[in-house]
Amino acid sequence: MKIDILTIFPELFEECFSFGMPRLAIERGLLNVDAHDLRAWTKNKHKQVDEEPYGGGPGMVMKPEPLVDGISDILGHSPTLMSKGERSILLTPQGKRLDQRVVEDLSLSKRILLVCGRYEGMDERVRSYVTDEISIGDYVISGGEMAAMVIVDAVTRLIEGVLGEKDSLIDESFINDRLEYPQYTRPPVFNGDYVPQVLLSGNHQDIDEWRKNQAKARTKSRRPDLIKPD
Ligand code: SAM
Repeated sequence: MKIDILTIFPELFEECFSFGMPRLAIERGLLNVDAHDLRAWTKNKHKQVDEEPYGGGPGMVMKPEPLVDGISDILGHSPTLMSKGERSILLTPQGKRLDQRVVEDLSLSKRILLVCGRYEGMDERVRSYVTDEISIGDYVISGGEMAAMVIVDAVTRLIEGVLGEKDSLIDESFINDRLEYPQYTRPPVFNGDYVPQVLLSGNHQDIDEWRKNQAKARTKSRRPDLIKPD
């Protein structure tokens, strides 16, 4: 998968994909990520990407020209002529809320372009040049870069061949509309708190049953909204 990021702070991405799953995916040739400096598409001396909002008000708004020129150049074609498997995503708190289903859908893409806003956001007209608008949650952060990092990480985990069998996604939270069961490791007793006996029993059928019940109970108590009616 190819992922491009359009940002005024490409340097923020220098280290962040050198760890964990993204690094593994890059090393295995399954992921190629590039962060592009939006200022490369400015035409003014000061490489200015923002202007005061029409109608007044606080803060600055990102100008449409560098964003749309950047999107076109990175894609290598008109942003309005997207082919199957290509997604261009504007990161905005006003977008569709990211969840595991959205991540699964994105993971089927061949190519994703993530467009990061700053300041008070972008000129409204940029919206016509992307396929999607995504929010990472109902809160406002100061720039789209961290939202882009979240998406790259979450999508990378689902690229075939990134997670080994031992890291199987089957039981993971939000897969199959469940939270994962509780996990324990050594020592068997910590500050008087015991690991459930069944996990030490070596009986895999009992362990599977216990985990299934725990996942169900945990989802019911913490996230009943995930449970689909039968
Ligand atoms: N004034 C905008 C509003 O009220 O909708 C918020 C602008 S925010 C300070 C600046 C940039 O951060 C946005 O353009 C967007 O790219 C990014 N951003 C902020 N919150 C986000 C969220 N929840 N999800 C995705 N991107 C977000």
